[in-house]
Amino acid sequence: MTPLKDAVAREEHVLMYRIPMYRLFWHALRLRCPYCGKGKLFSHGYTMFDHCSNCGWIFEREEGYWTGAIAVNLVVAEMLAAFAAIPLAIMQVSPLLVMGLGIPLVIALPFLFYWHSKSLWMALDFIIHPVSSGGTS
Ligand SMILES: [Zn+2]
Repeated sequence: MTPLKDAVAREEHVLMYRIPMYRLFWHALRLRCPYCGKGKLFSHGYTMFDHCSNCGWIFEREEGYWTGAIAVNLVVAEMLAAFAAIPLAIMQVSPLLVMGLGIPLVIALPFLFYWHSKSLWMALDFIIHPVSSGGTS
């Protein structure tokens, strides 16, 4: 079977057997392939594999695919920073202290959440855009 036919067959398999939402998020939390849950997403650092080492699933489904991951990353990181800073502001802690804690958080969190933003985006994409036999729909 050619790689293209193999990929199409895998996508049709996804259509026939939809992956339950809890399982997709479990795979995402473990930084595993959204399709099989076994292959690792990242080789080292911020370097991502092109496809799953177990099932061959191609992670980047189309050009610009990771734009959604960037959005997920920023939204979650900024929400976490707000959850940390708002209680301090309500307690009327010095604004200098709030900014001293908040600014590093706002800078660091997107880097720390990078891996999971991509894996969560892939899980969300499976839910939002069901896979069709011709690619994404
Ligand atoms: Zn896989």
